[in-house]
Amino acid sequence: MDYQAILHEIADEIVPFLESGRVADYIPALASVDPRQFGMSLTLFDGTHYSVGDADKRFSIQSISKLFTFTLALKFTGRDLYRRVGREPSGNPFNSLVQLEYEQGIPRNPFINAGAIVITDVLLSHYGDHDRMLNALLEFIRAIADDMSVDYSRTVAASEMEHGFRNRALANLMKSFGNIDNDVLEVVQNYFNHCAIEMSTAMLSRSMLYLANHGVDPINGREYITPSQAKRINAVMLTCGHYDASGDFAFHVGLPGKSGVGGGIVAVVPKVMGIAVWSPGLNAQGNSLVGTLALERFTSKTGLSIF
Ligand code: GLN
Repeated sequence: MDYQAILHEIADEIVPFLESGRVADYIPALASVDPRQFGMSLTLFDGTHYSVGDADKRFSIQSISKLFTFTLALKFTGRDLYRRVGREPSGNPFNSLVQLEYEQGIPRNPFINAGAIVITDVLLSHYGDHDRMLNALLEFIRAIADDMSVDYSRTVAASEMEHGFRNRALANLMKSFGNIDNDVLEVVQNYFNHCAIEMSTAMLSRSMLYLANHGVDPINGREYITPSQAKRINAVMLTCGHYDASGDFAFHVGLPGKSGVGGGIVAVVPKVMGIAVWSPGLNAQGNSLVGTLALERFTSKTGLSIF
């Protein structure tokens, strides 16, 4: 298959939609990002890489980071993790407070904000302190992306810390139910730090290979998680990776995927490749509008979906 030609076709086809979405202006540091940007990358199991557009430009990965924190938390706590966070779709917006109240502070899944905040709390307890946790997470991401330069933006993290009242409310509500062990502000700060990690689609597509290959990096053979854990992470991506648009994403794209409000989406073609796409304009559910469209075109043109 001529993947490079397919990427070029997609890059042409999405142009009319580049201004249809809306950037995540509830995070002031992201409000000024130019919505007309688009990048897409594929990395195959032998390391062959294809890219189009702004594929080397780093952007705020935001909730894509929840995939990496979920991976580490699952690796260290195993199934005990599910006492504190579920694995069912929420059917609600990513930052909703409502369900959390009537479900006694146990978030539906690790990808909505409440679930990711619990995961951050688990990792903070595991690593013992703030810096150790962030460094371990960055080290893991640098390994799977095969790029030592991955880092986070202090500016974006500070902007969210200043304006993230709803995330603080989620953390406080969970603390009141006994589902946050550490200091609320410390947990929230750590959560914002990992959301502010910056990567390009080229790096992100490479970093999905361990999930496409049962937990083992197909290029260097490193085993990060068990096959069963990789299966479960992919299943949660498919059912919960796009919040209240997860059904819609599965319907249109047919791959496990995870989005972030920075406009990035990662997706996994099991046993074949990692994919990443980026375009900052979001749809009503906070997922990249053009990113979703590009992935739909990709699976339609290539027939590469899990169904
Ligand atoms: N940091 C963002 C927030 O907490 C992450 C949300 C997202 O990417 N969906 O609102």
